[in-house]
Amino acid sequence: MIPFNKPYLTGKEAHYMYQAVYKGKLSGNGDFTKKCQAFFEQKYGFKKCLLTTSCTDALEMCAILCDIKPGDEVIVPSYTFVSSALAFVRAGAKIVFADSMPNNPNIDVTKIEALITPKTKVIVPVHYAGVACDMDAIMDIANKHNLLVVEDAAQAVDSYYAVRHPERSEGSPTKRALGGIGHLAAFSFHETKNIIAGEGGLLVINDERFIRRAEIIWEKGTNRAEYFRGEVNKYGWVDTGSSFLPSEVIAAFLWAQLENMDDIQNKRKALWNKYYELLKPFAEQGKFKLPDMPDYATNNAHMFYLVCNSLEERTALIKRLKENDILAVFHYLSLHSSPYYNDKHDGRDLPNCNKFADCLVRLPLYYELEEEQIEKICNSINTNADE
Ligand SMILES: *Cc1c(COP(=O)(O)O)cnc(C)c1O
Repeated sequence: MIPFNKPYLTGKEAHYMYQAVYKGKLSGNGDFTKKCQAFFEQKYGFKKCLLTTSCTDALEMCAILCDIKPGDEVIVPSYTFVSSALAFVRAGAKIVFADSMPNNPNIDVTKIEALITPKTKVIVPVHYAGVACDMDAIMDIANKHNLLVVEDAAQAVDSYYAVRHPERSEGSPTKRALGGIGHLAAFSFHETKNIIAGEGGLLVINDERFIRRAEIIWEKGTNRAEYFRGEVNKYGWVDTGSSFLPSEVIAAFLWAQLENMDDIQNKRKALWNKYYELLKPFAEQGKFKLPDMPDYATNNAHMFYLVCNSLEERTALIKRLKENDILAVFHYLSLHSSPYYNDKHDGRDLPNCNKFADCLVRLPLYYELEEEQIEKICNSINTNADE
């Protein structure tokens, strides 16, 4: 069986976890945590990073930092993982679901402004498959309407947005890392992502106004960080919060992955390109569509997906692959029609979202996948494709 995903180990994880244990500091915010946070701050220019126990938790911190109150509205694409919406729902927000683009699962920026009301507080772009949303357009809309932007960059580690208006970037590089553009952003290190820690996440704070409060929320509503830096002489309960920080054992695991980031990314990109090359002729015959790469986006090879022409064709394709011992999966039932949110949604039709929910299929993609296996998968995709 070719599985859909296989968590990759670089070989150093257990070594660093052992080091963390023998240092005698197992709780959070120790040396490995600080190394991982500094890695992201330095490599991608993120202003401040805090490791979290998951991307979902990082998004919950964002909801607190954005001061979401019952009745506030948050614009989220419907074609995404539950957490993009759930984190804000827990704080009392009403989710206003946005549609995808016709050829790309990402939020359709041309339709965002029509969703804004006086109650709107936040826009949550999700960089699906690690492919950038049109961030210049989103930031323009947010600035015009005085909204905050929280990037769900769960899938977008080591991926970039090419600035379309270089004159605005004031000497900064013409590519900006995803997660470094919105006011806040969240990454995931779940075992299905490119860089993993089992369960884990990262909160990125790009707007300085949020840094102090983020540190407090992260450590159970206490000003522990300021106290240990000697900035205040009393340590106590000053705000809301939770225990959002992972233990050093998790950070140690993550550090082994980060050290091997370039190798992991290069391998995944080579596999992605192999899929693309082998499947292109069939896409040109109209059998399915390949991932859309806008000119402002880079590819971090998080995912290889096809968009079939119909639900029936997708069901047949997944079945055929399974008969050939290949596990392909579909995902994201539209959140606006989910059992939990169905009756809270305003009834607007989101046709592009529904199309991806019905027709998109993800193919196996993981570090240890071999080129011959990709050939086998592509052959199985093509066999009887006309039936
Ligand atoms: C994986 C994922 C999440 C959740 O990440 P966790 O670390 O499992 O909480 C959120 N949003 C998107 C788009 C994801 O792909």
